[in-house]
Amino acid sequence: MIQLGIRDLVKYPFLAETGEYLRDKGFNLEQLGHPDWKPIVEKAYGRIVVATTGQIYGSAIEDFENMDSEILSFVIAIVLLKSAGIPTLIKRFSLSEARRAERYLQRDLLQKKNETKLELPLKIMQDLFSVKVMTDKEDFVISVSDYLKRAVQFHEKEWKLINRRVENGFVFLTAHETVRLIRKELDGYINSKIQAVNIPSIPETFRERVSDLSLLAKKFSEYVIVSSDYPPCIKHAIEVLDRGENLPHSGRFMLATYLLSKGQTADQIAPLFKNAPDYNERVTRYQLDHIAGSSGKGTKYSCPSCDKLKSENLCFEIPECNGIINPTQFGKKRTANV
Ligand code: SF4
Repeated sequence: MIQLGIRDLVKYPFLAETGEYLRDKGFNLEQLGHPDWKPIVEKAYGRIVVATTGQIYGSAIEDFENMDSEILSFVIAIVLLKSAGIPTLIKRFSLSEARRAERYLQRDLLQKKNETKLELPLKIMQDLFSVKVMTDKEDFVISVSDYLKRAVQFHEKEWKLINRRVENGFVFLTAHETVRLIRKELDGYINSKIQAVNIPSIPETFRERVSDLSLLAKKFSEYVIVSSDYPPCIKHAIEVLDRGENLPHSGRFMLATYLLSKGQTADQIAPLFKNAPDYNERVTRYQLDHIAGSSGKGTKYSCPSCDKLKSENLCFEIPECNGIINPTQFGKKRTANV
């Protein structure tokens, strides 16, 4: 049994121990509705705004005075999100919080010399995601089966088992790779915690920010139409962005030119890039307009060929790709050459 300190709860507020801590301190929703607590409600709202713009909320975990407000801002954010009931916001929040926790897990794993610090991240991975992580000098090791179950979601070459150091049925990983493997599960875990929360009513002082969340969500309502008919290279690029990961410039170019060729507009495509770690609305719009030919010299760019995408490691060919030379041809019935 690990004794969690308040700093641990600031880092990992989704743990069950958070509820116990707040109960022990006597916090309840009715009390948090008092106008004196308004700054925490604002903090919670700000935490959601940060998350929805694809950023990662930063906590001052050295600030002893405000540790309770850090924990409470997470809890109240969940209350606001549940009351607004907007799946897009919940999804963005859980992904951003998963990425935030990932940072702390990585930092804690790197403190190998301090066994107490190492205990908690290993326990989180074991208890929440059933991944047994062990240490071996500078590396972290997990079983091949645990690795394969998770690495299957990544298409990049470095995640292929053949490119990993494997010894006696165990895969060797860095701290970053170890936590990266569980991001999806962490995201799913936080999301399921939010879904499970039942809030019969909220204090009056929360209502204004719940309404503001509806306005905030409107920004994300112009979603690009994602079709299951897209070729794997395009689906992969969309998934990478959806996970809040970095898609190389060549991948962004491929995605934009492909969707433009399918009749989507720059306005419809732009929201796809909102989760990118380096997202900048103005730059994204400028680049999309440029690719679409509506700015600059008016040159409209075409989707790169499959050969070019293969050379850029952006191709994830499947049998249905057979015979096409450009992703825009995917799914079209080909007439036999005679
Ligand atoms: S073969 Fe072409 S369409 Fe298929 S995944 Fe590769 S680049 Fe995309």
